[in-house]
Amino acid sequence: MKSGSYMEYGGQYLPEILLPEIQRVAKAYKQYKDDPEFLNEFHTLLRDYANRPSLLYYAKNMTEDLGGAKIYLKREDLNHTGAHKINNVIGQALIAKRMGKTRLIAETGAGQHGVATATIAALFGMKCEIFMGKMDTDRQRLNVFRMELLGAKVHPVTSGTAVLKDAINAALQDYAAHSEDTFYVIGSAVGPHPYPAMVHDFQSVISKESKEQIKKVEGRLPDYVVACVGGGSNAIGSFAEYIENPEVNLIGAEAAGHGVNTPDTAATMQRGTTGIFHGMKSRFLQNDDGQINPVYSISAGLDYPGVGPEHVALMDSGRAQYVAITDDEAVNAFEYIAKEEGIVAAIESCHAVAEVMKLAPTLSKDKIIICTLSGRGDKDVASIAKYRGIELNED
Ligand SMILES: *Cc1c(COP(=O)(O)O)cnc(C)c1O
Repeated sequence: MKSGSYMEYGGQYLPEILLPEIQRVAKAYKQYKDDPEFLNEFHTLLRDYANRPSLLYYAKNMTEDLGGAKIYLKREDLNHTGAHKINNVIGQALIAKRMGKTRLIAETGAGQHGVATATIAALFGMKCEIFMGKMDTDRQRLNVFRMELLGAKVHPVTSGTAVLKDAINAALQDYAAHSEDTFYVIGSAVGPHPYPAMVHDFQSVISKESKEQIKKVEGRLPDYVVACVGGGSNAIGSFAEYIENPEVNLIGAEAAGHGVNTPDTAATMQRGTTGIFHGMKSRFLQNDDGQINPVYSISAGLDYPGVGPEHVALMDSGRAQYVAITDDEAVNAFEYIAKEEGIVAAIESCHAVAEVMKLAPTLSKDKIIICTLSGRGDKDVASIAKYRGIELNED
């Protein structure tokens, strides 16, 4: 496992009040990560509750239409609760249980990580409280109600600009006050050590499976693996098992919003600078004084002003490449994959699909691309309609 630093990035940059508890989490994770009983319970739940292994689907129509490399889709959208997030939440909640915690807290942006956390809290009979920016609770009322249905309490956060980064701050404050009985379930490959390493390990089931699956159907490794990057959890999970195979090209697709050169962007890799925030040293969209900038993307799951430290190291070392995809390109990809393959994929995932649409035609037909579909897109249908000028009457 990773030690907590990735080149110069990562670490544990926390107020003193949180440090001892985070160190207890790191110790617990170290203790259980290779424990056969822990791993057995984790993999049994992934199989029996989350519906793993997820399919590796040959996208024949897209392949033929784009006229280049063969395209396979790793179908995380078919997991219980509709995205990859459940993999990580199951793992962290099992650690929490072993630490004797009875209460889970989490931050959420659009609500998907909150829903996954509330789901597992219900399954394990644990208390659950979710912190969500007030802007987001207003935009995502359906997910707020879904979390409440699952037995969670949702706190609308009004501090700062009332979005995801403020929800994380509120969750950290709650954690500092209640760490005796509480475990903070972080939803992406971000935060202080051990979170980026834990999330890497729990999400790496994606590439463990895809590697076996592609070898079975093609008898070899892929030439490219493409995944979208918010904080970077589905991407690191999709890349993990291939990092040591330099012949496999790794591409992360982040959200350009209206464009990387506009203020309305979430393209941290292209536009960010090194800084310290949310317990880690990483790359952030920030001003010259180190104040975190507001971010924008059509995709609520990608509009985080930072990125996981391991991705920054992968970029700096040249092992992985990162591209930025605009709202427009992602929406086109959303419509394209629906019409070509009959799959309504999450708008986040469609950032990766858009990159595949550019890449595949430039490659010969004997090349292979695996593209991760991180989630399903039912949640996005109304906002895509709106983007096209159609108002769906939901009330
Ligand atoms: C949350 C989310 C993302 C972004 O998070 P990562 O940690 O970068 O994976 C991407 N896709 C979906 C469907 C999500 O729910």
